[in-house]
Amino acid sequence: MPSDKVLKEADRVMVICNACRYCEGFCAVFPAMERRRTFEDQDLKYLANLCHNCRDCYYACQYAPPHEYQLNVPRALAELRLETYRDAVWPGVFAGLIKHNGPAVASITVLSIAAVLLLTIVFSGPPTVFSTHLGENAFYRVIPYALMVIPFSSLAIYLIVVFLIGLNRFWRDAAGKPADFTDFRANGRALWDALRLKYLAGGGYGCNYPDERFSHIRRWLHHCVFYGFLLCLTSTTIAAIYDHFLHRPAPYPVLSWPVVLGTIGGVALLVGSAGLLYLKARMDSQPATPRSLGMDIGFLVLLFLTSLSGLLLLILRETPAMGTLLAVHLGIVMGLFVTMPYGKFIHAIFRYAALVKNAHESLREDNSR
Ligand code: SF4
Ligand code: SF4
Repeated sequence: MPSDKVLKEADRVMVICNACRYCEGFCAVFPAMERRRTFEDQDLKYLANLCHNCRDCYYACQYAPPHEYQLNVPRALAELRLETYRDAVWPGVFAGLIKHNGPAVASITVLSIAAVLLLTIVFSGPPTVFSTHLGENAFYRVIPYALMVIPFSSLAIYLIVVFLIGLNRFWRDAAGKPADFTDFRANGRALWDALRLKYLAGGGYGCNYPDERFSHIRRWLHHCVFYGFLLCLTSTTIAAIYDHFLHRPAPYPVLSWPVVLGTIGGVALLVGSAGLLYLKARMDSQPATPRSLGMDIGFLVLLFLTSLSGLLLLILRETPAMGTLLAVHLGIVMGLFVTMPYGKFIHAIFRYAALVKNAHESLREDNSR
C-alpha cells in the first residue's frame, strides 16, 4: 500500500484542482478528475498513472510554490505513481529494486556483462572469441546456439508472466472491474492515444520540459525511443523466424529486413535515449520526485548502451572485436531484460492500462449524453 502521506498529498492536490479546473485542457488527468467528486485510493492511483509529468499544470498554477498552498501536481502524482510500481512488483521480494533502482540496474547490468563475457571465454576459449569469424553461423561459433537461445527464451517467458501478473495487480488496485480492460473500443482508443503519444502534446504546445518553456522535443524523443524499441524488437523477431523456421542463421546481409530494421531502430533508440538523458540533466527538478531519478536515468542509460553495443556489433562484425562485442551486447540485453519488470519500463504498461480506463470512462460518458 502507498504511504498515507503520499495518498493524502495526492488527494489534497486533486481536491484543490477539482475546485479550480483551470488546467482541464492540458491532459487526460483533469477530465478524469472532473468525473469524480471525491477520490478513493483507487482513483488516485489511476490518476497518478494517467499523468506523464508534462509539467504544464505546474507552471500554469497560481497555487504552485511559493504560494502557501505549495501545490505541485506533477510531483504529488509522481510520488504516488512510484508506489504503485512497487505494489505491483512480482515476486514481492523484489520490491526493493524499485526503491533503489539506479544502483540495482547498474549492478545487475555489470554482473550480466561480466557473466556472459566470462562464460563465453570459458566455453569457447580466447582464440575463438578474439578472432575473426565470417559467413553463416559466425555468431554461433563464438557463443553456441543453445547458450544463446535457451537463457533468452526463458527470460522472455519470465517477462511475459511477470508483466501479466503486474498488470493484473495494477488493474485490481487502480482501475476496477476486470471486464473493463477487455473493452474493445476502449483499447482501440487507448492504443491510438499511446501510438501518437497524444498527451505529450499537452494542450497543443507540448510539454513544459525541461523548463517552463513549451516544447515538443520530449514528445519527439519519446517517439524515437518508443518506435526505435519496437523496430529493434521486430528485427529480432524476424531474425528468429529466419533462423528457426527458414534455417538462415545470422549474420544477415546489410540489405536484409533484420539489419535494416535493427539499424533504423538502433539509431532511433540511441538518439531518443541520449536526448532524453540530456533533457533530464537540464530539467527543472521541482515538478519531479527525486525518488525516481535513479530509475529514469538507469533505464535510459541501459537503452542507450543496448543500441550503442548493437550498432557497434553490426559495424565491427567482420573484425576480431566481434566476439567481445557480441558477449557485451548480450550481457547488456540480459541486464535490460532482467531489470525490465522492476524499473521504468513498467510505466509503459501501467500508463497504457490507465489510458484504457480513461477511454472506457469517456466512451461511457459519450454514450450517456
Ligand atoms: S494545477 Fe493549479 S491551476 Fe491547474 S487546476 Fe490545479 S489548482 Fe488549478
Ligand atoms: S503534469 Fe501534465 S500530465 Fe501530469 S497532471 Fe499536470 S498537466 Fe497532466
